[in-house]
Amino acid sequence: MQDVSGRNPLPDRTAEILAGIRKTGEQTSEEIKALLKTAGDNAKIRNEHRHTVSIESKGILWTFTGMFAMVTVLAVALHAARQPDYDRADNDLKYRYIRMKGEASPENISGLENIFGFNRDNGKINQMRKDVEAYEVFDKDGTYLAVLYTDFHPRAGKRSGAWMTSYKGQWIDEKSGENSRPHVSIVMNFTKPTQNKPALLTFDEVETFLHEFGHSLHEIFANSTYESLSGTNVYWDFVELPSQFMENFAIEKEFLHTFARHYQTGELIPGELVQRIVDSSNFNVAYACLRQVSFGLLDMAWYTRNTPFEGDVKAYEKKAWDKAQILPVVEETCMSTQFSHIFAGGYSAGYYSYKWAEVLDADAFSLFKQCGIFNPEIADSFRRNILSKGGTEHPMTLYKHFRGQEPTIDALLIRNGIKR
Ligand SMILES: [Zn+2]
Repeated sequence: MQDVSGRNPLPDRTAEILAGIRKTGEQTSEEIKALLKTAGDNAKIRNEHRHTVSIESKGILWTFTGMFAMVTVLAVALHAARQPDYDRADNDLKYRYIRMKGEASPENISGLENIFGFNRDNGKINQMRKDVEAYEVFDKDGTYLAVLYTDFHPRAGKRSGAWMTSYKGQWIDEKSGENSRPHVSIVMNFTKPTQNKPALLTFDEVETFLHEFGHSLHEIFANSTYESLSGTNVYWDFVELPSQFMENFAIEKEFLHTFARHYQTGELIPGELVQRIVDSSNFNVAYACLRQVSFGLLDMAWYTRNTPFEGDVKAYEKKAWDKAQILPVVEETCMSTQFSHIFAGGYSAGYYSYKWAEVLDADAFSLFKQCGIFNPEIADSFRRNILSKGGTEHPMTLYKHFRGQEPTIDALLIRNGIKR
């Protein structure tokens, strides 16, 4: 790059720029030490943070330590491998096989309703706007469960992204015994259909839909006395179980073959394409796993301190995540000073929940894989023991009622192709 004087700004200007960055890093490092000193004096805040997670740090560290041994060797090998042409898998799928049913919902939703045993009826509620559907949701015996809004396409003024919202929670009136049911909405930003082409979804969009649909099931099936313990009002590290659990269906051929047909030829999605999607999502997964684990360890190292921190931030960081580092450290980088999730994002000792939710959802889905992904008894057990219970019992108690045992890391390692 040339500047206006025609003089090449490199390399002398580079040294200047790097010196500037280094100076900023040193300032941040001093600021963070000051912040930690204040936080260290406030034991109450730290303890409250700890109560927001359901599993003792020790247990998590033990689980993560178990992961290291298994994934480190593979991570090194995979990282060294050349990335195959996996991107094509999503391109091949893109805009071809999975379409929306009219404007209402992806075609797959009815299959999922069947396994969890509920029906929707959108005949009775007036639409508040053309592209937002409103359904009454009923249990298989006809009992009213919830109102579900689906808002799937972009429009002027609508926020981007995807989410599930609860407009009204669920509770049971103690005097009358009336079970007040929730109103929830799933919001997406899928491409709209045109006159001659239906709305066709990418693999990522299907996964996102299943994710938010899982959150909505947590609300729709809620059945608690108190709203504050109902539906998604659970510990931080348990709230993503229903959503991530539902994502597992996206790569199941048996599920995809119930609806995913080429929109022009009618051909069912080829098994080979589904396998390529699985392979592509597993590329470099062991390295990504270690990276997430390293962040979890670093977060815990900072938030499990009982004394103000006076030492060297870089040295502390190195010690905290040493077990999960496989690549040489890049000099002058410091994760702690830029880890906004834990210092500004509210995760505070809860960052591990990303990986922990994966352990849970893979382990839970492995029971479906074992007994059949459409097995109604297992689906009913998941609904009764987890989805309808909210935060009324400790997550591990609920999980064990469903699974019969505590989760292990095996199912996740198998799903990621790390363990056979
Ligand atoms: Zn989520």
